[in-house]
Amino acid sequence: MTDPVICPNCNHGTTVEIGLNIGDHRVSLRSCSVCEARWWKADGDQVEVADVLSMASAIRR
Ligand SMILES: [Zn+2]
Repeated sequence: MTDPVICPNCNHGTTVEIGLNIGDHRVSLRSCSVCEARWWKADGDQVEVADVLSMASAIRR
């Protein structure tokens, strides 16, 4: 269950979180419905999309 969170980027939209597992990592993508800002988190820490992609490519080998 995820609660809607007001977007810190535009202070207007609400953000929704989509969770997924990449290997042993719990990754979530939070995105704003208004300004389309996006944040990635992995294991509770904010990460860049490049980090997520490298995790994903690491487990496909
Ligand atoms: Zn926003």
